Amino acid sequence: MIRIEDVSLSFGGIRAVDGCSFEVAEGSITGLIGPNGAGKSTLFNIVAGLLKPDAGRIVFDGEDITGLPPHTLFHRGLVRTFQIPHEFYRMTVRENLMLVPPEQAGENLFASWFSWGRVKRQDADVLDKVDEVLAFLNLTHVADELAGNLSGGQKKLLDLGRTMMTDARMVLLDEPGAGVNRTLLGAITTAIRRLNEERGYTFCLIEHDMDVIAELCDPVIVMAQGTVLTQGPMSEVRSNPDVREAYLGH
Ligand code: ADP
Ligand code: MG
Repeated sequence: MIRIEDVSLSFGGIRAVDGCSFEVAEGSITGLIGPNGAGKSTLFNIVAGLLKPDAGRIVFDGEDITGLPPHTLFHRGLVRTFQIPHEFYRMTVRENLMLVPPEQAGENLFASWFSWGRVKRQDADVLDKVDEVLAFLNLTHVADELAGNLSGGQKKLLDLGRTMMTDARMVLLDEPGAGVNRTLLGAITTAIRRLNEERGYTFCLIEHDMDVIAELCDPVIVMAQGTVLTQGPMSEVRSNPDVREAYLGH
């Protein structure tokens, strides 16, 4: 579904992504792991259209999407989740779901999209969809809470919910388990699995919690120093001595 072809990007003298190539197969939950600074988040930002690579191509559904802006990609069904911007903390969970398009277009476009979001919220189809997403994620009981009052895990579920509002097909998740308690971690992994199995979502997810990766992901891509070190099922990747060394050596 996505093919990353020999992508590189430097910041000043630092080669954050350095000749990276891999594929994400349609229908998979592909894991992306590697030590801090390996270039995972930078690569996500390139795929999502937030950064332009110095070299290489991103192919989505057989089409070159390199450098296309986030709002174009999200219309095609490719999105990356973002933390809720602080401005959204004073709105309810339900309102956050109604206002999805501004966020998916990138936080800097917040202002220009805001009026469009206001129109959209009158739409009965949107209201039905919000109810459906709230029920799917078990967030109905906090629908009228301010988003700022949610726990870390509930905020992550809301991030996923906003992705669902866009009818995404391919979702990039950067550390969905970070700072989340065990109970809500279970709710998040269940939601990811159900979206994959029942709705056909393809996921590529960065995660430091190896239990989450082992439970959800096949294959797992290991990045180190901006490029792919190895890939395969978690059972193989886990016992690879090069992978151990990459983690220990940094
Ligand atoms: P990971 O997500 O795997 O931890 P990152 O993609 O965040 O890695 O970072 C890869 C490298 O690029 C690191 O050395 C990091 O310091 C550097 N880097 C990331 N973003 C920037 C930036 N905006 N400006 C300068 N250097 C950056
Ligand atoms: Mg990162």
